[in-house]
Amino acid sequence: MKAKAMVLEQFNQPLVQREFELSRLPEGALLVKILASGVCGSDLHMAEGEDPRTPLPIILGHEGVGEIVQIDGKKKDLNGEELNSGDWIIWNRGIVCNECFWCKVARQPYLCPNRKTYGINLSCRDYPHLLGAYAEYMVLFKETEILKIPKSIDPANLVLAGCSGATAMHGFDVLSEPLLGKTVVVQGAGPLGVFCVVAAKSLGASTVVMISGTKQRLELAMEAGADMVLNRHESSSEERIAILKTLTHNRGADVVIEASGSSNALIEGFNLLRRGGTYLVTGVAVPQQAIPVDVYKDLVFKNIDLKGIWVSDARHLIQAVELVIRHEKVFEKLVTHRLPLEKANEALRLVEERQALKVVLTCQ
Ligand SMILES: [Zn+2]
Ligand SMILES: [Zn+2]
Repeated sequence: MKAKAMVLEQFNQPLVQREFELSRLPEGALLVKILASGVCGSDLHMAEGEDPRTPLPIILGHEGVGEIVQIDGKKKDLNGEELNSGDWIIWNRGIVCNECFWCKVARQPYLCPNRKTYGINLSCRDYPHLLGAYAEYMVLFKETEILKIPKSIDPANLVLAGCSGATAMHGFDVLSEPLLGKTVVVQGAGPLGVFCVVAAKSLGASTVVMISGTKQRLELAMEAGADMVLNRHESSSEERIAILKTLTHNRGADVVIEASGSSNALIEGFNLLRRGGTYLVTGVAVPQQAIPVDVYKDLVFKNIDLKGIWVSDARHLIQAVELVIRHEKVFEKLVTHRLPLEKANEALRLVEERQALKVVLTCQ
C-alpha cells in the first residue's frame, strides 16, 4: 500500500508532500489510519530547527488519533483490552527502553535516554517510514503503549491529550499535596494552559487565575472554568502580584503553572507564589536564553518546590484522555481550525501567527 505524508526535509522550508510505500508491517506492529493529527507549537520549533532532537527528513506530528487498519499478531491496550481492526485509538508518543536506570530504578520512564518519539526523533528515511502523524497512515511499533477510545468522541477534540494534556497531568501528578481548596495561577492560555485550568478545577482547586495576553484566549479560559483572568496588556506585573495577594490573605498562590512556553514567565511567577508553594514549569520545551534568579529571595527563603516537567508517560496519557472525554465541550472550543493534511504548511503558519488556538489536520 501507499500513503501520503507531509515531510520536513529542510529546516525553515515548507513541508513537502511525499508518498511512501509500505510492503509489510514490522513484527508486532500496527497500521493506523490517522483520523486527526494535532499541530503542536513544538512542530513549529522543529520546522525552524530549534529543537535539537530533530532528524531530517521527518514526518512531523506527535499528536495522533487513529483507527486500526491492521495488526501483526495480537495486542492489548493499556487497560488490557484486546485491540482489533476498526478500533479507535490514541497512543503514548514516546517509546522507552524498559532497561535503563530511569525506566527500571528511578521509575521516571519519561526521562529514558533511549526514548523514541513519533514525529519528533524518528526519521522517515528508514523503513517503515510512516512514523509521524502528518500522514494518511502511521505504523506503531510493537512496544507502543496504546489506549482504545470511544467512538462517541470527535478525534480532533482529543489530539491534545497525547501531548500537552499528558504533560499537564504529569505536572499535577508530582504535586506533594492534593489541590483541594488551593489557589492556582496558570501563566499562558494556549492549549496547555487551558488544559491546566480544566484539570486544576477538576482536581478541586478553589480559585484558578489565568494570566495571558490574548483576549480571545482569556475568554476561553473563563469558559474552561477559570475563576479570574488577567490580561498582561491591561495590567502591570505589580498589579497582578497585588491581586494574588488580595485573593490569598496576603500569601500568594499555592501553585503556579508556567504554560506559556517562555522562561521569562518565571520572573513574575516567583512573585505570584506563596512561601512554601509549588512552581510547575510545564511549557518551556526548547532551549532558551537564561533568566536571572534571586536564589535567596525566590527559592531558599520562600522554600518553594520548583519542578521542571518533561513530557509524560502512559499514566498521564490515560488521565488526560479521561479529562478530555469528561469535558469535551470545552476542548471542542479549543479546536479553532481543521485543515486537510495537504494544508499542513498553512496549519503551521496559523500557529506561528498565533491566529489559531489549536489546529488539527484531518484526513478525508
Ligand atoms: Zn506537542
Ligand atoms: Zn529506558
